[in-house]
Amino acid sequence: MTTKQADIVIIGAGAAGATLAVLLGQVGFDVALVDPHPPESFKKTETTGRTVALIGSSVQILKATGIWDKLEPLSCPLQTMKIMDVSKGGSEPVAVEFDAQDINHDEFGFNIPNAPLRAALFERVKALKNIKFIEGRFHDYKTDGHSTKVRLDTGDVIQARLLVGADGKNSAVRHFAGIGTRRHDYDQTAITCIINHSRSHQNISTEFHTPAGPTAIVPMPGNQSSIVWVETHEKAEALLHLKKQEFEQALQRQIHDVLGGITLEKGPEGWPLETTKAKDIIAPRLALVAEAAHALPPITAQGLNLSLRDVATLAEILTDKARLGIDIGTQPVLAAYKKRRHLDIDTRVAGVDILNRFVANDIAPIIGARRAGLKTLESVYPLKMLAMRVGLSPRIDESRLARGEAL
Ligand SMILES: Cc1cc2nc3c(=O)[nH]c(=O)nc-3n(C[C@H](O)[C@H](O)[C@H](O)COP(=O)(O)OP(=O)(O)OC[C@H]3O[C@@H](n4cnc5c(N)ncnc54)[C@H](O)[C@@H]3O)c2cc1C
Repeated sequence: MTTKQADIVIIGAGAAGATLAVLLGQVGFDVALVDPHPPESFKKTETTGRTVALIGSSVQILKATGIWDKLEPLSCPLQTMKIMDVSKGGSEPVAVEFDAQDINHDEFGFNIPNAPLRAALFERVKALKNIKFIEGRFHDYKTDGHSTKVRLDTGDVIQARLLVGADGKNSAVRHFAGIGTRRHDYDQTAITCIINHSRSHQNISTEFHTPAGPTAIVPMPGNQSSIVWVETHEKAEALLHLKKQEFEQALQRQIHDVLGGITLEKGPEGWPLETTKAKDIIAPRLALVAEAAHALPPITAQGLNLSLRDVATLAEILTDKARLGIDIGTQPVLAAYKKRRHLDIDTRVAGVDILNRFVANDIAPIIGARRAGLKTLESVYPLKMLAMRVGLSPRIDESRLARGEAL
């Protein structure tokens, strides 16, 4: 058994944990980054080639890690977003279209493939001498007035001033800290896959709202798109067991032939959906970030965007306090993190939860209200502009990194 020393130990090297490690490593903190899966195994676990749609402020945060030059050629700008209500209760589909140019932006953000994102972050982790990647699984931790001692299943112990739980929605760190969660299971599975198509997507991201949930087509470079198709667990299970050609035909119907002929490139794969929100995001010498603090269904693509805002804010607070010579694991530092993050987290989690229930609903008055809402948004120009700006630049707790400034 060895005891390693670090300023900060981060449990979980997903996109959020690895981004935080790089941001902190770059400003000189000694960081221990722990994950049971070594970076080389990512390609195997990312079988469907899932992508994440990230808004401009999230892209700014990624740019601060120095990986954007590698990612930009693999990513697709999201210039137009289209929402179509195609519930059976209505006769004609109702559509609303948001164009980034209407608010003087080139794009709303980018659709970025997950596996290259994590690989690029790992190259940065390896390049920074003061970040140690440790292969292992969190077991427990003990805290005293000066530090925290984290024990891994390998027997290794890491002593640090602060522990960060970035270990995903079933966070073992959160569980060990005794922080409870509020959960809601929607009886929904997201089916994800990558398709090739004959027609150009013209950088338009389209989200169909159906009574089972949303189905999103998110453009990728060339004539490829990623699909997130939400269905009940039962229907999703049946779809996932179809033969390749049968699945392609079902998907073709689901997306109303908008992309011409389609063929499967990768996937499909199923992701059970739920909302999880931790009852607290701090404890003595502990901060939770990303899905360890909040996990959301994919409607309106908020998940990693919200997580990167946790990461950018925590990095900013820790850097500022350390520059003043303050112990970064102490209560006032953690309280500052909680104070800055709680409103953004609470409003996004509640908003996505309400929207998901509203969309995945086949009660006639709700279908009517949903369609009327979209019609209003489409026809009332200032409302549409407001919706776009709020979606694009969440002003609650904007960090320096999200504004494109240095730490
Ligand atoms: C279908 C779908 C589509 C999505 N689309 C979007 C989108 O378009 N835009 C968007 O912003 N978000 C999207 N999201 C959300 C986004 O994918 C997630 O927020 C993000 O991948 C989660 O990152 P994370 O780092 O918090 O967690 P994870 O990726 O789950 O990483 C957690 C890490 O912790 C490690 N770990 C777990 N337990 C332990 C332990 N005991 N000890 C050590 N390490 C441990 C794991 O190995 C893993 O590497 C989508 C999600 C889904 C399901």
